[in-house]
Amino acid sequence: MARPSLHDLTFRALEDELASAGLPRVHALPLWRALYREWETIGPALAKNAAFPPPLRRWLGEHPPVLDVPMEHDMRASADGQTQKFLLRLGDGQTIETVLMGYDGRHTACVSTQAGCAMGCVFCATGQMGFVRHLRAGEIVAQVLHAQRALGGGLRNLVLMGMGEPLHNYDAVMAALEIIADSRGLGLAPGRITISTVGVVPGILRLVEEKQPWNLAVSLHGSTEEERAALVPVSARWSLRTLISACHEYSRQTERKIFFEWTLIAGRNDSPAHAERLGALLRGIRSHVNLIPLNPTAGYDGTESGAGAAAEFQRTLRRAGVPSTVRQRRGIDVAAGCGQLTAQRPSCVPFFPPSQPLPHPDPHLPRKA
Ligand code: SF4
Repeated sequence: MARPSLHDLTFRALEDELASAGLPRVHALPLWRALYREWETIGPALAKNAAFPPPLRRWLGEHPPVLDVPMEHDMRASADGQTQKFLLRLGDGQTIETVLMGYDGRHTACVSTQAGCAMGCVFCATGQMGFVRHLRAGEIVAQVLHAQRALGGGLRNLVLMGMGEPLHNYDAVMAALEIIADSRGLGLAPGRITISTVGVVPGILRLVEEKQPWNLAVSLHGSTEEERAALVPVSARWSLRTLISACHEYSRQTERKIFFEWTLIAGRNDSPAHAERLGALLRGIRSHVNLIPLNPTAGYDGTESGAGAAAEFQRTLRRAGVPSTVRQRRGIDVAAGCGQLTAQRPSCVPFFPPSQPLPHPDPHLPRKA
C-alpha cells in the first residue's frame, strides 16, 4: 500500500508512525515544526535537517517521506489586488482551486474539500461540473500551506467554502482541521475556521456529537421545501424541515451562532415575503445571515438581486430580529467568488454528473436523517 503523505497525519498519528518505526515519540515535534512552521516542501530535505535528532534523520533518509505540495498551475489576481485565485494540480493530476482574500490587511483562505461536488446546486459552477473525488486531509492542509507561503505568513481565517461539500468528506476534513489548528504548527484558532455545508444533516449532528469547535455556515437559499429543492437538489435527501431541526439542535447544544448563507437571485428568492419566511424559520436559532448577490456562472441564467432588493430583504430580516450582512462581491473578475470555482482542465473529468444520485456518501456518517 502507498505510504500516506506526512501532511495526512495528525500530530498523534505522526507520533504513532514514528513509534511504529522504533523512534521516540518526542521526535514528532521537530518534524511537525519543519512541516508547519518552516513549510518544508521537499521530502528529501527533511533527512538533511540539522536540527533533527540523528535517528530521525536516518529514518527519513531510509524512508523518504511523501509530502503534499500541489503544483501551482495558474494564479489570477483580481483587479483590486484583494483576491488571488490559485489553480492547483494534485499528485494524480486532478486540479482544484483555492482562493486567498485580503481585507484591511487580514487574510482569509477559502479551500476546497473535494474535486468537483456531488450536491449539484444549480447556480454553482462546481456543482455544474459534478463530483470527481474526495480530497485527502493532506490535500486540504496543503492548500492552507500554499496560502501561507503566498502571503509569507499571517493567514488569519479559514473557510471551507471552496469546491466541494465538506461534510460529504467528513473524516478527511476533521483530520485536516485538527492539523491546521494544532498550536505546535500552523495554529489557526478554531474560532477563525468555518465549515460551510449545504445541509448534510448527519454531518451537522456529528459535529454536535463530537463537540467539534469549528464555526458552522449553512447554505439555505430557499424558505420553503419547493423553493429550496429547485436550487439545492440535495434537499430531496435532507428536507428543509430536517435541516432546520438539526440547526436547532446545533444551536442548543453548542450555544454557538450559525451563519446562514443566502444567495440573492432576482425574482427567485429575494422578496420581502421570502425574508419574512426566512426570519420565521430561524426563530430560536442563534444566527447571522450572509446575503450574497448571485455570482455569474456559465450554466445558470439567473441574475443577482439589485442593491434595493438586498437592502429591503435585510430590513425585513432585521424586523424579524435576525442580523444579517450583505456581502460585497469580490474576485468576480477572476471567477473567484462564491459558486464560481471550477478548476476546468482536461484532467478534471467528472465521474458523477450532478443529475445522478449522490455517489458513495461517507460511510462514517450516521444515517439518522
Ligand atoms: S454550492 Fe457548495 S455544495 Fe453546492 S454544488 Fe457548489 S460546492 Fe457543492
